Amino acid sequence: MTYLKGGSFLTHSTNPEDIFISEEWNEEQRMIADMVREFCIKNIQEPMLKMGREFDVHHPEDKAEIVRLLEEAGKLGLCGVAIEEQYGGMNLDFNTGLLFSEVIALGLSFATTIGAQTSIGSLPIVYYGTDAQKAKYLPGIATGELKAAYCLTEPTAGSDASAGKTKATLSPDGENYLLNGQKIWITNGGFADVFIVFAKIEDDEKLSAFIVEKVFGGISLGAEEKKMGIKGSSTVQVFFDNCSVPKENLLSERGAGFKIALNILNTGRIKLGAGTIGGCKFCISKTMEYAVERKQFGKPIVEFGAIKHKFGEMIARTFAIEAALYRTGRNIDLKRAEFVENGMLESEAKLNAIREFAVECSILKIKGSEAACFVTDEGIQIFGGMGYASETGIETGYRDARITKIYEGTNEINRMLSVGELTKRAIQTKEIDLMTAGKKIPFYLFKQLLPFKSNGELAAERRIVQNLKYCFLLISGTAGRKLGKKLVDEQEIVLNFSDILAEAYIGESVLLKYEKLRTKKDVDTEKLAIQKKIVQLYLYEALDIARKASNDAIAAYASGGERRRMRYLVGLLLKPYDVNPKALRRTITDYCAKNGGYCF
Ligand SMILES: Cc1cc2nc3c(=O)[nH]c(=O)nc-3n(C[C@H](O)[C@H](O)[C@H](O)COP(=O)(O)OP(=O)(O)OC[C@H]3O[C@@H](n4cnc5c(N)ncnc54)[C@H](O)[C@@H]3O)c2cc1C
Repeated sequence: MTYLKGGSFLTHSTNPEDIFISEEWNEEQRMIADMVREFCIKNIQEPMLKMGREFDVHHPEDKAEIVRLLEEAGKLGLCGVAIEEQYGGMNLDFNTGLLFSEVIALGLSFATTIGAQTSIGSLPIVYYGTDAQKAKYLPGIATGELKAAYCLTEPTAGSDASAGKTKATLSPDGENYLLNGQKIWITNGGFADVFIVFAKIEDDEKLSAFIVEKVFGGISLGAEEKKMGIKGSSTVQVFFDNCSVPKENLLSERGAGFKIALNILNTGRIKLGAGTIGGCKFCISKTMEYAVERKQFGKPIVEFGAIKHKFGEMIARTFAIEAALYRTGRNIDLKRAEFVENGMLESEAKLNAIREFAVECSILKIKGSEAACFVTDEGIQIFGGMGYASETGIETGYRDARITKIYEGTNEINRMLSVGELTKRAIQTKEIDLMTAGKKIPFYLFKQLLPFKSNGELAAERRIVQNLKYCFLLISGTAGRKLGKKLVDEQEIVLNFSDILAEAYIGESVLLKYEKLRTKKDVDTEKLAIQKKIVQLYLYEALDIARKASNDAIAAYASGGERRRMRYLVGLLLKPYDVNPKALRRTITDYCAKNGGYCF
């Protein structure tokens, strides 16, 4: 398998054999997924059904149970999925780690709890810890004996993470840092033993990061926040009042905190994307079960076109984003292996590999969270009044899904990051050659004027993917030239770019997945035909999104003749796609209804 550099999907094509697809999980990976699924059903879903309500940390007995479940998960090795074996972890490769994140979503809000433990709460030590720090903390985190939290956000520092006021002052003997400050929205904060805390040393402008134990003293907690969703996840304020931290608990070096925070969030973003896909699949299956049973006007509601429309969309988005998810995960693993081969330390290699795919990680965070909100909303709609009732659990999923657009960097910030990172690689580091790609645009546009010669089964779909990429290059290139540095103040236009970029990546991924699937031996032809329809439906919708984003951007930066010319060119690139979306949605839904829910 070969792979492209991060972000360069825009300027290069990928062969289908070079992407990983979820049908290729091996026996061991499937066993891990089964174990996690069983854990979630037995320990979270079934008890919730019995209680007739969701877990809620405001009930002391629930909070104690969540702590116990974290320890139970630890016994199965689930708290150590990303921790090296020598410290008691499973050290799963990155893509299997994403599979874990997908399936643990069946644990509903517990996924946030264990997510903080296995990701933001422990990865700073995994990636940046010294051997001594790793040996001291990671074994306890891997077994769940030590509960971990990540303290970045402050009242004045949310998206602007480096604006925090928490201070670390070196003690007169130079042996300890005294931490003072306030952190808010801290997941697992209500029971954590170990906190990764970001603070500025003395009058530094840059953040540093510390490993802080609860037993160090000087730490007090606010009450559990009253939240819209993920009620089983502990979220509190954490106050540091002369908390004395040994100087050897500084992570990495002084001033490295912001870099650590961002790199950890990159990892968290794609993992969150994986979780949202798990949530979407679960919601689709649960809703399908209901829609097949529930009768109105003498027939199951799944037989109504209006309901089929919803399912078609829910399924297509989930399938397409999943294709991009595991494509990216495997690329991260391949990049890590290449770094290690070239002599890089394992932890550094992991980190650099994830950073390489920062653009893709942001796209997956955005698209996954938006799919989860869409799917759970439509799920409620299909359940009708019962969707609004707590007992069916769909409203829990809807409320739980909403946070995914906010944490791990809001979707607005991630949209800007995806474009910003790409631009940086094109202009500053010159890793991506957008200029050469841009120069091909006139010739490419000219080709669009010629009659389209379809050569082969997927010619139209390949052309759409290619045109989405060219559309991004055209719009971002012309707007960039016109607005120059002023573009950063034109966020709406940057958001338009990011929408086109995301559709190009997800659209290409779902097409590549289908192309790979059809080469598999013993392929289920009926299923394959449905998968093709999913690709078509996704691309149909992607074109619509890109068309609107392009026209919005053009209206914002061009006027008169230039505006008309740009609209014409976008029209050439994003021509109507000759499929019948109604028929596609119906067939996709019928297939899933016949097969008991989401079945890909
Ligand atoms: C349930 C929950 C759990 C959390 N867990 C943790 C945790 O464990 N650890 C932790 O450190 N934090 C945690 N957070 C905090 C979370 O990461 C922040 O809420 C998030 O980063 C957004 O920051 P904010 O809430 O201050 O919003 P703000 O930054 O104030 O943003 C408000 C709005 O303004 C927009 N905005 C902000 N800046 C810009 C800009 N430059 N351009 C355009 N739009 C902008 C945002 O997109 C958003 O729509 C958690 C939050 C919640 C709700």
